[in-house]
Amino acid sequence: MVMTVLVRPEALDALKRRDFRMLIGKEWVAAESGKTMERTAPGHGVVVSGIPAGSRADAERAIGAARHAFDHGPWPRMTVSERSLLLLKVADAIAARADELAFLDAVEAGKPISQVKAEIAGAVDIWRYAAALARDLHGESYNTLGDGTLGVVLREAIGVVGIVTPWNFPFLIVSQKLPFALAAGCTTVVKPSELTSGSTLVLGEILLEAGLPEGVVNIVTGTGPEVGAVFATHQQVDMVSFTGSTAVGRITMENAGKTLKKVSLELGGKNPQIVFPDADIDAFIDAAVFGAWFNAGECCNAGSRLILHRSIADEVTARIAELSAKVKVGDPLNPHTQVGAIITPEHLHKVSAYVKGAGEAGAQLAHGGEALELGPGQFMAPTILAGVTPDMAVAREEVFGPVLSVLSFETIDEAIRIANAVDYGLSAGVWSRDFDTCLTVGRKVRAGTVWMNTFMDGAAELPFGGYRQSGLGRELGRHAVEDYTETKTLNMHIGARTSWWMPRQ
Ligand code: NAD
Repeated sequence: MVMTVLVRPEALDALKRRDFRMLIGKEWVAAESGKTMERTAPGHGVVVSGIPAGSRADAERAIGAARHAFDHGPWPRMTVSERSLLLLKVADAIAARADELAFLDAVEAGKPISQVKAEIAGAVDIWRYAAALARDLHGESYNTLGDGTLGVVLREAIGVVGIVTPWNFPFLIVSQKLPFALAAGCTTVVKPSELTSGSTLVLGEILLEAGLPEGVVNIVTGTGPEVGAVFATHQQVDMVSFTGSTAVGRITMENAGKTLKKVSLELGGKNPQIVFPDADIDAFIDAAVFGAWFNAGECCNAGSRLILHRSIADEVTARIAELSAKVKVGDPLNPHTQVGAIITPEHLHKVSAYVKGAGEAGAQLAHGGEALELGPGQFMAPTILAGVTPDMAVAREEVFGPVLSVLSFETIDEAIRIANAVDYGLSAGVWSRDFDTCLTVGRKVRAGTVWMNTFMDGAAELPFGGYRQSGLGRELGRHAVEDYTETKTLNMHIGARTSWWMPRQ
């Protein structure tokens, strides 16, 4: 059984198409080709946005504007006090336009409106955190290298940063990158996902209204191969910060190799939750449901693999199925909805194929499994697969939908082995009342974040990123601004210098 929230005709009436332009320098422009792209709301089946279909020419023009703003503009030379104040002003303006931003992400991505409102509030907090960090950006000095030497280590803005973001958390993810790059004094070219560009374009309006100088943030819309790929290969771009699939992350890194620029990659995940019999099972059941169905499982951090101790596996799986039946799936704009739409019909097809393949490989369907007809959009029932083994595709690959795989183990070593037996290493959870058990798993699981007796919590202060094919580098945390800097050593000599070819006696 699935609790559904039907899409009401009034919800469809409320959806007016909004046409956007993109931001280059301080101008709002159409694509040079004049072409546009449309976005059909995945939860409502109607066109809600039109965006310019940018191409290489537009990307190059935007990179030129960012380069000019970095090389000649005031932004990198302003005091951090001034930059920090502007970031705070932007944070306030985001809060003031939170409803508009939340609406855009809800309709374009099919996300539940109540969830997106929390994401926008989280983004405001991140902009404020970046403003605070900006004030602490500093280098080092070494007055310990002898009477004749003083060493100073400078932190300088790295330059022009190309930012590429995915569709699953459109506003939150651009907010995990842009304010830190701006805090460092960088200038930027941003390419949001072609499916969800609206909120990033509104952010462009907010930045200009807050007084950001011309060319510091440019936003080019369009497809990845047409626009995003230009950033990695372009000589005038100094760094690419990419969040998206591991496949495109790999292409980005290969492309960046041609000009040897720095890349930061936040990629996919296949995150395990390991549960021992002594855990607080009630608390875990709630976290399992949240971890699997939050954002319809279209979440890099989704807890998509449960690794349950064999003695509790059947009972716990039945309880998760029971609670999943109460989760409300449907209209993203209904405030009671907990699970929204699937991003595109093609993606629903891909997710369904994983479920079918798992059945053929011997997994048993413990809940859901089917697409839901709730209105003109595309939806899927929360789906639980029991009896999954580590070799199955559904246990190794990122499904990126509401599909939970349940595996089991006997010993702690076996649990850790199963957790690490995938190419990804983004995050993991461990549940036990035993301190030693939690710490042993926490140390041995190869993942950028390990939650203990909780799941998918986070804070701007805590670094986030992946091991292995989940990415390269970390976002957030106190080093987040430094990531957008270069290090320069000033090695200074004091007094008479010792001659190399005629040493003094
Ligand atoms: P995607 O890789 O298809 O697209 C991401 C972005 O890259 C989009 O803007 C897209 O237009 C662009 N792109 C596509 N091809 C490109 C190319 N050749 N060169 C440059 N850019 C290109 O990913 P998606 O489907 O939008 O997002 C889902 C993926 O993102 C999942 O794998 C998910 O795990 C991952 N993700 C990771 C994190 C994280 O922080 N680790 C967060 C959110 C999403």
